[in-house]
Amino acid sequence: MRKPLLEFNDNGIYCPPGKFYIDPWKPVDDAVITHAHSDHARWGSKQYLAHHLSREVLYYRLGEISLRTIGYGETVVKNGVKISLHPAGHIIGSAQVRIEYKGEVWVVSGDYKLENDGVCEPFEPVKCHSFISECTFGMPVYHWKPQQEIHNNINQWWRQNAAEGKATVIVGYSLGKAQRILQHLDLSIGGVFTHGTIDNTHEALRRNGVQLNAATRITPDTPKEAFRNAIIIAPPSSAGTPWMRRFMPYDFGYCSGWMALRGAKRRRAADRGFVLSDHADWEGLITAIAATECETVYLTHGYTATFARYLSENGYDAHEAHTLYGDDEGGEAQAEALAAESENAALAEGDSL
Ligand SMILES: [Zn+2]
Ligand SMILES: [Zn+2]
Repeated sequence: MRKPLLEFNDNGIYCPPGKFYIDPWKPVDDAVITHAHSDHARWGSKQYLAHHLSREVLYYRLGEISLRTIGYGETVVKNGVKISLHPAGHIIGSAQVRIEYKGEVWVVSGDYKLENDGVCEPFEPVKCHSFISECTFGMPVYHWKPQQEIHNNINQWWRQNAAEGKATVIVGYSLGKAQRILQHLDLSIGGVFTHGTIDNTHEALRRNGVQLNAATRITPDTPKEAFRNAIIIAPPSSAGTPWMRRFMPYDFGYCSGWMALRGAKRRRAADRGFVLSDHADWEGLITAIAATECETVYLTHGYTATFARYLSENGYDAHEAHTLYGDDEGGEAQAEALAAESENAALAEGDSL
């Protein structure tokens, strides 16, 4: 039997003939990066390959690394193995990695979503024999509504708060969610402010030529009155910290796929939860995998057991893979899944009474 073209070892996803890694979680000689989220793009490797639009964010997050960037569809050859990047639709610069060697094709999805978010290059299915997929939301309860509906809800909520003289604080991951929120705001409602972490990310993207709506960075000198009628885009790390007190009175909303779960909003002490995700939902995962026409699927992170079982029952050779990829939806997947299970169990008990 032939050795698999990609394998999972202690450092990451490794290609033995090509002698490179994809999204390694330990420092290696040669790293191909799907996207700039911190669990996929880690510090310490000797050289990196990524998409052009990941360049400035990678420099901002990892410092002075040795980085080569390429466009979607461009091919690089390493030790006879062809590598190319294809849009993953997850965040700006995110890519699926296609590997071809002796007629065999593997694709590593990185993180992805199918809906065009109007900010990053939309997902494109790539045909392959083996597909290494995330499945952060690989449970049937996850079903996203069209994003326009969510953006309308956000604007309506902001308009209402502004009418009541309250500030609006919306929390979303700084790379991905923050850009989607910013680009879909109704700017006629009021001013837009950003937390320093988000502004730094936006500045990096602008250096990369990405055009984003204007927003004002919050500093200790920003007058409190400026926040009335305004919306403030803040990262998950700022939720519930004293930093937020300056916006009082304010309404606090949280944007994440996890908001689809009962209790998720309450656990974050948020006034509003908006179900907006940069990952595929259950149907999205199934559609994406079918479109690759692959036979074998490896699942890297998320509800891997549930989803592997479903795929096996539907004719795929499906495997769970152990990786160190985490959760970029501000949910701490493990904790969310456990909380959801216990609440569902409580619900089921209630039903049987
Ligand atoms: Zn990600
Ligand atoms: Zn991920």
